[in-house]
Amino acid sequence: MSKFYLTTAIDYSNGDPHLGHALEKVGADCIARYRRLRGDDVHFLMGMDEHSQAVLQAAEQNGSSPQEWVDRMAERFEDFWRRLDCSHDDWIRTTEARHREGVTALLELIRSRNPDDLFAGEYEGLYCIGCEEFKQPAQIVDGHCIEHPTLELIPTRERNHFFRLSRYRDPLLERIRSGELRVEPAIRRNEMVRLLEDGLQDISVSRQRLAWGIPFPGDPEQTVYVW
Ligand SMILES: [Zn+2]
Repeated sequence: MSKFYLTTAIDYSNGDPHLGHALEKVGADCIARYRRLRGDDVHFLMGMDEHSQAVLQAAEQNGSSPQEWVDRMAERFEDFWRRLDCSHDDWIRTTEARHREGVTALLELIRSRNPDDLFAGEYEGLYCIGCEEFKQPAQIVDGHCIEHPTLELIPTRERNHFFRLSRYRDPLLERIRSGELRVEPAIRRNEMVRLLEDGLQDISVSRQRLAWGIPFPGDPEQTVYVW
């Protein structure tokens, strides 16, 4: 018997569930059921992604507090998955205390093992509130985000905490090439190797102006991005 962990994407609480969500959940449910029949020790997770600017806006537009709004959405999504008889073993919501504790513990562990991996920096660029991230020139067409052509990009300068992802390029490449880390199928493995060969940028892991989120350990003015 081998252990098998499977998670679906956890869904954004900013709109109703639709067929696209159902397609993914039913597919994952088939894999989980097949693995259980084979005798594997399966842990199948589903849940809700509840912290984001988009969720805050949806709550405001509907005249609810963010917590009331995500509670209502979680109930609606869970009811759908019950009706489709999904066999998930756990249901996680990112506003739950156990999730908040896990995120905080992870960041504190990174800081204690490699203090240099988390650092504060200024970020200046064009921010898309649809994507909730700064856009790079290749992602901008005619002055708008490729994915959100009807939204205005906002010139923004803010202080963020960054994770030194660039440091992990070589160790990751080495582990994937040696087979110690397996990425399947081969087409995805090659995609990952190409991405690593192009180099990795340090990534912003906090937001300054977003109160609806998990406080960044040691800096209450910032919330953790994107959990
Ligand atoms: Zn966008």
